[in-house]
Amino acid sequence: MLELRDIQVDFDGFKALGGVDLTVAEGELRFLIGPNGAGKTTLIDVITGLTRPTSGTVGFDGHDLVGRKEHHIVRLGVGRTFQTAVVFEELTVLENLDLAASFRKPLWSLMRQRKGVTEAVEEALSRTGLEELAERSAGVLSHGQRQWLEIGMLLAQRPRLLLLDEPVAGMSREERERTGELLTGIARDHTVIVVEHDMEFLRRYASQVTVLHEGKVLTEGSVDQVRADPRVQEVYLGR
Ligand code: ADP
Repeated sequence: MLELRDIQVDFDGFKALGGVDLTVAEGELRFLIGPNGAGKTTLIDVITGLTRPTSGTVGFDGHDLVGRKEHHIVRLGVGRTFQTAVVFEELTVLENLDLAASFRKPLWSLMRQRKGVTEAVEEALSRTGLEELAERSAGVLSHGQRQWLEIGMLLAQRPRLLLLDEPVAGMSREERERTGELLTGIARDHTVIVVEHDMEFLRRYASQVTVLHEGKVLTEGSVDQVRADPRVQEVYLGR
């Protein structure tokens, strides 16, 4: 589904990515790890059109995404979250989901009178477990609830590939568990790439892991394989 070939990103002479190849199959739940500055966010930015690579190709479902506008990439079915959840605080949970869902709709369908919530919004609400908070203003949500709302907003856009940047950062143990279950459920019918540092979380929920280091893929494999790799221990685990 996703095939990155020789992705290079130079920021004023600084090589943030130095030739990254990455292949992710449909339906995979792939974790992306690596020390600070490894290039994880830059890689997500390249896939979503926020950063144009200096060279390389990003194949998604038969399209090359390089050079396409962000909104075009969203329309092709790629959605992302950011490290800090971006929600509209003055709107309710339901309104946030409804708004997100409308971003992918053609104008004519927005002009038609719609009754109640759409199927996509309903599904996003139930998947994220936010039904009881539907009428609550997003501004009063806890940190964890905001993250789930942002994931729900992505789901409401019906993406095929979801890119999540550190979804459990700052969460309590209980919130992490709930997020792990949520991601596992989403990965049943989506392709998901998650940037995450938390090793305990990885051990519980990750199957395939890609390790980035200094703008390159250091290694890939199962959590156990990756953890046992001495190079990974050296650069990432600091042992
Ligand atoms: P990670 O997400 O793995 O922590 P990043 O992708 O954020 O790493 O950053 C990779 C490297 O690129 C870092 O050294 C960072 O300072 C640098 N970098 C990221 N964005 C920019 C930018 N817009 N301009 C210059 N350097 C950048």
